[in-house]
Amino acid sequence: MLSRIFLLLKPLLAIALLWALNLPLSAKEPFIKIGILNHSGQSESEIINAWSPFIDYLAMKLPGYDFDIVPLGYYELEAVVSNQQVDFVLANQALLANLQAQSLIVKMSRLNTMIGDEIIDEYGGVIFTRRDSPIKTLKDLHKKTLVAINENALGGFLAAADTLQNNGLDPFGNELYREFVDSPRSVVDAVLADRNKVGTLRTGFFEQLIQMRLIHEDDFTIINPQDHGYPLLLSTKLFPEWALARLQHIDAKLADQLTLLLLRMQSSYLPFYSTGEVFWSLPSDNSSVETLLKKFLLPPFTKPPVVSLGSFIARYWYWVLLGILLTLSSTLIAIALVRRNQRLERAKQRLERQNALILSSVADGIYGVDTHGKCTFVNQSMTLMTGWKQEDLTGKKLQPLLHHSNSDGSPASVEACPMYASFKDNQPHYVSEDIFWTHDQQAMPVEYSSTPIRDIQGETIGGVVVFRDITERKQAQERQANHQTQLTHVARLSLLGEMASGIAHELNQPLTAIAMNAQACVRMLDEKNPDINECADILETIAGQAERAGSVITQIRRLAHKELPNKKAVSVSLILENVTNFMLRDFQQHDIKFKVIKPADDIFVIAQQIQLEQVLLNLLRNASDALIEIPAEDRTLSVIIKRLSDRRVTISVADNAFGIIKELQDELFNPFITTKASGLGLGLSISQGIIEAHGSRIRVSSEPGDTVFSFELPIHH
Ligand code: ADP
Repeated sequence: MLSRIFLLLKPLLAIALLWALNLPLSAKEPFIKIGILNHSGQSESEIINAWSPFIDYLAMKLPGYDFDIVPLGYYELEAVVSNQQVDFVLANQALLANLQAQSLIVKMSRLNTMIGDEIIDEYGGVIFTRRDSPIKTLKDLHKKTLVAINENALGGFLAAADTLQNNGLDPFGNELYREFVDSPRSVVDAVLADRNKVGTLRTGFFEQLIQMRLIHEDDFTIINPQDHGYPLLLSTKLFPEWALARLQHIDAKLADQLTLLLLRMQSSYLPFYSTGEVFWSLPSDNSSVETLLKKFLLPPFTKPPVVSLGSFIARYWYWVLLGILLTLSSTLIAIALVRRNQRLERAKQRLERQNALILSSVADGIYGVDTHGKCTFVNQSMTLMTGWKQEDLTGKKLQPLLHHSNSDGSPASVEACPMYASFKDNQPHYVSEDIFWTHDQQAMPVEYSSTPIRDIQGETIGGVVVFRDITERKQAQERQANHQTQLTHVARLSLLGEMASGIAHELNQPLTAIAMNAQACVRMLDEKNPDINECADILETIAGQAERAGSVITQIRRLAHKELPNKKAVSVSLILENVTNFMLRDFQQHDIKFKVIKPADDIFVIAQQIQLEQVLLNLLRNASDALIEIPAEDRTLSVIIKRLSDRRVTISVADNAFGIIKELQDELFNPFITTKASGLGLGLSISQGIIEAHGSRIRVSSEPGDTVFSFELPIHH
């Protein structure tokens, strides 16, 4: 896992290191740069100082060239070389093998050391522990900690790792803990601090520290000591010494010149290295290093080096820190977002609940349809009114369910359906009377409005329909129509009744007299000697009675004077409203401007409602008939209710037609007086009878343009 992270981070790290080193990305430099691996945790200036005699010598021997030392850490070396930020590189053969495999470098020469009179061109690692440590042999290292400089250090780690592997301990596995520190001194200190740790250093470093009196040899035990006649303390196999290589972009001629110079160079120009004097020789066989790299599958033979979590964090703490900070901040942002989402979700749910509450509280039925006519939502009133359940409707096309046929049973077409029309023409539609089919296939009379729904861009995405069950209104209308029929019927009955009873009453006596006298006359004429004079008297009586019967018609009016039943307190406004409703169509049809003038508060009168309505209806009809005779724009008809006193109210019907001639005014209330072709001439006569039965009289005053019929009624308290 860590190695994968390392692989991913490697290019990033390389760029970051180049940036940190402030190295130019171009290879063009006035100086020849020699990169030197920093394997001992020295500071840059220490390395540059140590190598300055060397580059001064080169500059002297190669006029026209200037040289520069670039100290390189283990991890930056490959990136710097890949980017040609140096011209030459001096490093261990393990790192160089990888660079060589990538054709980045050509090896030129390698370092040699003279120790005493012995020349050594190989090095390895020394493994050591504190003298009092329980670790005495390599086997004792199981589950112990190996402290080293770097996992890429050949003498400083890989040589020891090789030896451990050969002794059955996986140096990269879990059987051994690895700890990497920044200098040989730190390795020694870590071992001195913990008897359960072993250290490994490249050969020579240990002796150097002893010589510098930084440590005392007796304090340590060397593990797996080797005795090959090698002049330094050694626990591992030996590997070829560091080599100097040129990068591919360096001219081979210059490289040759430099190689010659190096081979001839005296030790005094080179830093005191390891424990002896240093000089250069030609590069030699490198197969032992390659075998080692292959064994551990290290570059160039594979996979990246195994990095322990500790060393990874120690080395890339800033990236790790950045990663942790990024993770933390993204976690915090994620938490904030989740909380915000939760708040939004709660607000949304609240809104939805409110919406649902509003929709379910509305008495009207409400439903939505999409542009395909499919139901998107319904409210509770709709389900109650229609009997359809929500699940019966949601997602279904509504026209075939709710609006499939007209009231007469003929199929209703989708195109004609105003609900669809509203989102087709993008206009609201109002339908005052239609039918919806309930779940039980009952036709429900409805009025509804259908309004398009638009999205934020103004595109119509459906429609919302608000409808109302108008069954009651229809029934009220029917009741009203019945009422009118009843009124007419009553009027007719009243008329017939009055006439019949009047005629019966008035004719009864003269007819009885006629009949009796006629019988007497017949009996007399049957006698042998009838008295003609007496017969003539009887016939005279009969004629008189017949005359009396003739005058009966004129007396019919009196019959209306009879007391009417069911007189009670009735609202004048209600009576007016009923009567107006009957007449309204008539008024509209003839362009008659109709107005009512009445006190703000309603007045109750003692009356028989139907008969009072009949009177008013009659007066309004007469006025309407008269108004038709004048130009349409002038036609005005008013009903005026005026409180005369606490006890009485006047009801007047006024029109502005031609009026009634004086002679006619006196006759109007007599039966059969009419000026209309189809008139009966009974309306006013009956009306007068009714009003007289209410203890009042209808009065008329008329002149052209102003005719008023009025009567008074007692106010009910
Ligand atoms: P009908 O309406 O059948 O003629 P009415 O008794 O109601 O019988 O009316 C009698 C007559 O009175 C009418 O024919 C008409 O000539 C006259 N009349 C009634 N009201 C008016 C009015 N407002 N203006 C003019 N003439 C009227």
